[in-house]
Amino acid sequence: MLTLPGIFIDGVWQHGTQVLTVTNPSTEQRLAQVAGGDGEAVARAAQAAQAAFAQWSRTTGAQRAEHLRAIARGVEARRERLIELQSSNNGKPLAESAIDVDDVIATFDYYAGLAQALDAQQDQALALPSEDFVARVRREPCGVVGLIVPWNFPMVTTAWKLAPALAAGCCAVLKPSEVTPLAELELAHIIAQSGLPAGVFNLVCGTGLAVGAPLASDSRIAKVSFTGSNAVGVQVMQRAAETVKGVSLELGGKSSLLVLESADLQRAIELACGGGFFNAGQMCSATSRVLVADALYDAFVDGVLARVAAIRVGDPFAGETDMGPLVNQAQYLRVMGAIERGVQAGASVLCGGRRVERPCGYFIEPTVFADVPLDSALWREEIFGPVLCVKRVGSEAEAVALANDSEFGLVASVVTTDGQAAQRVADQLQAGLVWVNAPQVIFPQAAWGGYKQSSLGRELGPWGLSAFQEVKHVVTAV
Ligand code: NAD
Repeated sequence: MLTLPGIFIDGVWQHGTQVLTVTNPSTEQRLAQVAGGDGEAVARAAQAAQAAFAQWSRTTGAQRAEHLRAIARGVEARRERLIELQSSNNGKPLAESAIDVDDVIATFDYYAGLAQALDAQQDQALALPSEDFVARVRREPCGVVGLIVPWNFPMVTTAWKLAPALAAGCCAVLKPSEVTPLAELELAHIIAQSGLPAGVFNLVCGTGLAVGAPLASDSRIAKVSFTGSNAVGVQVMQRAAETVKGVSLELGGKSSLLVLESADLQRAIELACGGGFFNAGQMCSATSRVLVADALYDAFVDGVLARVAAIRVGDPFAGETDMGPLVNQAQYLRVMGAIERGVQAGASVLCGGRRVERPCGYFIEPTVFADVPLDSALWREEIFGPVLCVKRVGSEAEAVALANDSEFGLVASVVTTDGQAAQRVADQLQAGLVWVNAPQVIFPQAAWGGYKQSSLGRELGPWGLSAFQEVKHVVTAV
């Protein structure tokens, strides 16, 4: 079997000693082996990044913009290959993988623009209440950054961190998920060939304990940007605390879709299925709680069941497929366990809940629950699979209260034809992003991140850039 080098340090590809086996979740076949690293490789990567920082941090924003655009063009040129790798390693249907790759291109192009704009913003005067002093403001890169990403949107979560980090003038050490390194490795090859100076971008594949943990601890790393589960996010934060590192966290969610009495029923049905079953529900932003106004509830449930029956689950490479498998056996077992516990807690399965009858692959039927107890794990915890819980609500106020009754607060969706109700409800929801009558569109210009235990900080937009910057004031006596 092909063994790929899983370490890229100071411009050189290397084989490490920790071998990861990468599988295709549709076929359960091994795809490749990746020779990743450990703490020793992390230390070398951090050192190379630190050495490169001396020059890279002094480049102009315009120079860095050129590099970011070169990466975007490289991704564009390898678009088909990246889509194929994403679908074979992650199991996403081709159309969903294409959305990911296009998002990566858009993100690098967007941060090229912000990098370019930085030069004119540098050294701006700060108004002081004294004529005896003048002050100027500089935005400088925070240093070498560690980027740790999950398996559900490989490349996308990487781009959301790496593009702003490079734009700010930081050097980076990236740790992809051990489950889905293949598209990330291809992206790394594109970056390596884009002309970026050696040491600015480094990569170490490996498990969380072998690579992620030392990355969070290394004293040369100024900041860790992490996307993943809450349990690991807390560990990363604890390790980072030892050297007072900056930390950005993008963690879990338990988000709601609110179908108000004034909703367009067909649109509500489409948006509910999209919010629950895109990426086989393996989304931190899945709107897995669907709160439906009493007057629409029965028709809505009938409509959702009819729509779900039409969802084609199967081979990600078949053009007609709507939903692929879960990413691996561990995730399959986790989701089946959550479904089973939901049934034991008294929830009713309206459809799905079983493995899809196929010779192989980690496929689960799109599943809809009703009568879900509000204190059950099914209602309160992130399931990260194709599972929707629908609930009848008696008023708009009840819907808002139920949506906000969560330790998470990542996103929310509102479906209504009443503009005033849309604004009223959106303003009350404790979520970082609210979609009104819209699918889960994400623009690099708009912030990503949530309230409460979903996030610490924001990605994308100018907020994503400032996450990798320090602010310096120079105050001079005149
Ligand atoms: P995970 O927390 O298991 O792993 C995430 C990354 O952390 C992986 O690269 C993993 O190897 C690494 N890691 C594991 N243990 C570590 C440790 N002790 N120290 C440092 N790094 C370690 O998450 P996952 O299963 O890969 O992804 C699913 C989770 O990610 C879900 O909870 C989901 O909600 C979350 N997620 C959040 C967002 C967001 O934007 N809020 C986006 C995507 C995924």
